[in-house]
Amino acid sequence: MKKITIAIDGFSSTGKSTLAKQLAKTLGYVYVDTGAMYRAVTYFIMQNNWITPTKIDKLAIVKNLDKINLHFQFNEQLGYAEMYLNNKNVEKQIRTLEVSQNVSRIAEISEIRAKLVQQQQEMGKNKAIVMDGRDIGTVVFPNADVKLFMTASAETRAQRRFNELVENGQRVSFAEVLENVQQRDYIDTHREDSPLVKAEDAIVIDNSVLTKEEQFKVVLQIVNKHL
Ligand code: C5P
Repeated sequence: MKKITIAIDGFSSTGKSTLAKQLAKTLGYVYVDTGAMYRAVTYFIMQNNWITPTKIDKLAIVKNLDKINLHFQFNEQLGYAEMYLNNKNVEKQIRTLEVSQNVSRIAEISEIRAKLVQQQQEMGKNKAIVMDGRDIGTVVFPNADVKLFMTASAETRAQRRFNELVENGQRVSFAEVLENVQQRDYIDTHREDSPLVKAEDAIVIDNSVLTKEEQFKVVLQIVNKHL
């Protein structure tokens, strides 16, 4: 069977990773969650106190970039790869609201983007990959065979993220989750380097009204045309 590259971009909490995991599992492809990489870098920076609500120590961050080692390791039980920062599994630590509140400011730093994009391109060089993020169809794989751009109303997305956080035992309010989703969208679409935009040739999937199953059916039809 022909191997292809599938790029999934879109706003925060549009269900990109759920769809990407489903696709990768069905096709026997590798799934890469690039948001996890930006989150892991952010977590490292937070641990070193190089970010506060008002300041970012960009000099220290850029000087220490080579101390950040990221890799994914497949978890048989879960059926997907988990994020490791300097050989430690950080899946739980990177999914907190605190990391979400800092990650978009960190993702604006070009030196960080360059490092992560290079790693992402390396992971996808043999195709047979589903990658999700904000700049996959525009910057990481501009020649991807299938490009999807996912969107949904801010309220639908915040509700999803809120449910996820509560399920993981975190104490958060719906209002702060909604505010975070909107804030991240704003920074992600307005940054200078690789802003979140729909690639010209990307297909828009609005899942405000689609169920997971309906959405998967639609996307599988699109993908099958390229196989
Ligand atoms: O996908 P997720 O919501 O986990 O991504 C977290 C943040 O990482 C995004 O809000 C964005 O600021 C940044 N990001 C990015 N480019 C990517 C993936 C994520 O800038 N390819």
